[in-house]
Amino acid sequence: PGEIFKFMEIPGVGPRTAKLLYEELKIKDIEQLKKLALAHKVAGLPGLKEKTEENILRGIELIEKQRKRMDLGQGWPVAQEIINGLKILPEVKKISPAGSLRRMRETIRDIDILVTSNRPAKVMEAFVKLPLIKEVLAHGPTKSSAVTKEGVQVDIRVVEPSSYGAALVYFTGSKEHNVQIRKMANQKGLKINEYGVFSAADGSASGGKNKYLAGKTEEEVYQALKLPFIPPELREDRGEIDAALKGKLPKLVELKDIKGDFHIHTQASDGAHSLEELVEAAREKDYEYIVICDHSASLPIAGGLSAKEVLKEIEAIRKLNKKLKRFRVLAGVELEILTDGKIDYNDNLLKEFDVVIAAIHSGFKQPKEVLTNRIIQVMESKYVNIIAHPTGRLFGVRNPYPLDFDKIFKTAKETNTFMEINAYPQRLDLNDENIRLAKDKGVGLVISTDTHQISQLDNMIFGVATA
Ligand SMILES: [Zn+2]
Ligand SMILES: [Zn+2]
Repeated sequence: PGEIFKFMEIPGVGPRTAKLLYEELKIKDIEQLKKLALAHKVAGLPGLKEKTEENILRGIELIEKQRKRMDLGQGWPVAQEIINGLKILPEVKKISPAGSLRRMRETIRDIDILVTSNRPAKVMEAFVKLPLIKEVLAHGPTKSSAVTKEGVQVDIRVVEPSSYGAALVYFTGSKEHNVQIRKMANQKGLKINEYGVFSAADGSASGGKNKYLAGKTEEEVYQALKLPFIPPELREDRGEIDAALKGKLPKLVELKDIKGDFHIHTQASDGAHSLEELVEAAREKDYEYIVICDHSASLPIAGGLSAKEVLKEIEAIRKLNKKLKRFRVLAGVELEILTDGKIDYNDNLLKEFDVVIAAIHSGFKQPKEVLTNRIIQVMESKYVNIIAHPTGRLFGVRNPYPLDFDKIFKTAKETNTFMEINAYPQRLDLNDENIRLAKDKGVGLVISTDTHQISQLDNMIFGVATA
């Protein structure tokens, strides 16, 4: 039963133990298991030692900690606020986030910040007094930890300028990436840590008197290992070091490459702003176009537009375009993929749009095959250009629904349908792994923000980072 699988989510609990827990304790969830383990009622079950009980508790603790991860959209502004608050100090020379935030992971646990300064104590003092800090956990001369009003833990440390690059590599991670570069260093008779790259006098990585070779900048650190600079977003030990050695690191999309946004809602459906306001905001970003995609008729809860209403909107867009110079508003729609795989506007209407996006907002619990077929059926319509937020996941709310991506990407390629990288930080959908799979299969991708509020246009950076 499902309960057994639930228990198997606890690190260190295998199927045998999970079954035992379920059958012997007659409990349904991890909550109950924790209570019993704390009361020492788990040890003593047939074949279950005290040690196992301890392990179970530790595993549960780990799960609870992981639940406290926040999405990038929550952590990012906190890091920005701290960095902006500190970099105005004359004592702060260099400052950067590190850790999973710098790697732009989709969820992060805490925020790490590195600083170089000639007066570290001053920086620490200023840090603990920042208005967003609620509770100071540790306040040292070069290292401090605090929790913000939103409950985000921030660790900050001041390092020597000669170690700044090495410390950035070290604290940015990932752990797995660092293990790999340490291995490389060892093979070259070098030693690498958060202070720099060193050569060992006797040629071994461990013994002898070490001589400092590099560490000021990350570029320097990688160079000492005969590697080109590897962007933080790639440091996940997924083949980036091999690629770097072969000179085949992918060129990452950057924010400045983005010329427009494909997925924007206006107040005609569930957005907050008018067409004109959105155009102005997009022009401030130096975009050349935006695509207006309000919801279609079958999503009344989000103000879905009837055929008549949407035709009026298209007309308004065409009219506006006549007034705009060097900027285009494209008329689009976010079409409902109905539970039976049909769409809710007919071809006669669909041909009026410049861009048609289709998305699933219902029937999330259908089996994988049904969900997959819904998307495939819609991709086969000659009017549908893009599938939005393909897996429907919403951090903290909804897991991705299961899809057969082999089939979907194959059809996407055949029908020239693009997949969206939805940059809304609770979505980031497609995620990094599916993006890679899509790219390998030659599927076209668009990064868009699904903006409902003008400020959300800024989420583009999260989509770019994921891509
Ligand atoms: Zn949507
Ligand atoms: Zn949308």
